[in-house]
Amino acid sequence: MNVYDSEQISRVLTPLGYEITPSPGAADLIIVNTCAIRGKAEQKAFSFIGRLAGLKRKKPDLIIGVGGCVAQQEGRKILEKMRYIDLVFGTQALNRLPGHVKDIATRRCRIADIEMAPEIIEFPPGAPIVNGNITRFVTIMRGCDNYCAYCVVPFVRGREISREPENIINEIKGLVKTGVQEVTLLGQNVNSYGKKEGLCSFSALLKLVNKIEGLFRIRFTTSHPKDLSDELIFAFRDLEKLCSHIHLPVQSGSNSVLKRMNRKYTKELYLDRIDKLRKVSPDIAITSDIIVGFPGETDKDFAETLDLVRKVEFDSLFTFEYSDRTNAPAAHFSGKIPDKEKNERLRMLLELQKYYNAKRNLALVGTTELILVDGFSKKQSPVNGQNGFSGVQWTGRTSTNKIVNFVDANTLSGDDNLMGNRIDVIIEKAFSHSLWGRPVNVKPMPLRVKGEESYAA
Ligand code: SF4
Repeated sequence: MNVYDSEQISRVLTPLGYEITPSPGAADLIIVNTCAIRGKAEQKAFSFIGRLAGLKRKKPDLIIGVGGCVAQQEGRKILEKMRYIDLVFGTQALNRLPGHVKDIATRRCRIADIEMAPEIIEFPPGAPIVNGNITRFVTIMRGCDNYCAYCVVPFVRGREISREPENIINEIKGLVKTGVQEVTLLGQNVNSYGKKEGLCSFSALLKLVNKIEGLFRIRFTTSHPKDLSDELIFAFRDLEKLCSHIHLPVQSGSNSVLKRMNRKYTKELYLDRIDKLRKVSPDIAITSDIIVGFPGETDKDFAETLDLVRKVEFDSLFTFEYSDRTNAPAAHFSGKIPDKEKNERLRMLLELQKYYNAKRNLALVGTTELILVDGFSKKQSPVNGQNGFSGVQWTGRTSTNKIVNFVDANTLSGDDNLMGNRIDVIIEKAFSHSLWGRPVNVKPMPLRVKGEESYAA
């Protein structure tokens, strides 16, 4: 969501003459887009903002703005604590940002705007490309009405509100014209898309997006288990562009913890949904979020979570230690779990999930997967081969959202651009968080990957 918002920020500031620079030292305007979802994210944001004080001392005309969820939560307090910050703007003030920046540049005033707008803000098309042009995020709704006990989102992003299908479709068509092949539809709970406004259902929206010519793949995130309808499950079978991957946050395997979290489903309902998903789409990859150490979580509750992980065999997990968030009801719950205990539970959970990561990835060794190439691998190029080859290491994703790295003998120097190509690869190796593949019909390159444990000999 923040990546998408950052794109919107650059979109509204471009007409003022600003362009993106990779170096903060060269900037005339620095916008820090913050996240408040966990304590750690907030601390990171403040530590980054703190480091900007030196830049401002060297360059007094520099404008520094703080946006996003921390800005929405803290508002004017940020201006009071940090005298070198010029602007604080909330999650619903993006369309007012250009006016604020102009005012500050001309009058050197300081502004805090955390007003919540009751309607969705639509921006004009013509955005600069921020994160490459193969895959992009598209927000379909904002805010959340669920009020999970640990979560700050409804307080910092406001109540749930959906965009008109027509605006979403037009945005995606515009992106496809610029070369985008894959979109990820974003919402805090996409399953409730359009319900409040009487728009079409999320499954119906997916059908419309599926018809867009030139678009190759569709992903979405996030789905709330309580609202995962049969209609949406069948979309995985019926829509050829919808990728075989669902991120379905479970948070805990204990019904009593789920109840106190205000998640409104049980472990049994969650397992039933997983069962149905796998019946309809046997190869689907399932990922999830789990919080350990929620207030009052007992050893027995945690054992229920481990049991659920064993039953589901997730492809991967995002795991978190519970942290109090301002405004979230759980901050006032009794039974806080000591850090040492939370660390131990997280360690046990990660250890267990490591096994399933390996198992799920190993099952793909020997299969042929279609990937969409979206850049160079983290290990970059060149890769030096044993037979005198050197080449460029590319990366792409399978429909199941697995990262596949490979070397193509045809792109020895990196002159040939594979970005955006759809390539069949035979999976040769499985690692904890990625796969190694050999493009079909291309001379095999020797594998030289360092620093990652290999599960396949
Ligand atoms: S569904 Fe719950 S966890 Fe997700 S954004 Fe809404 S309140 Fe937060």
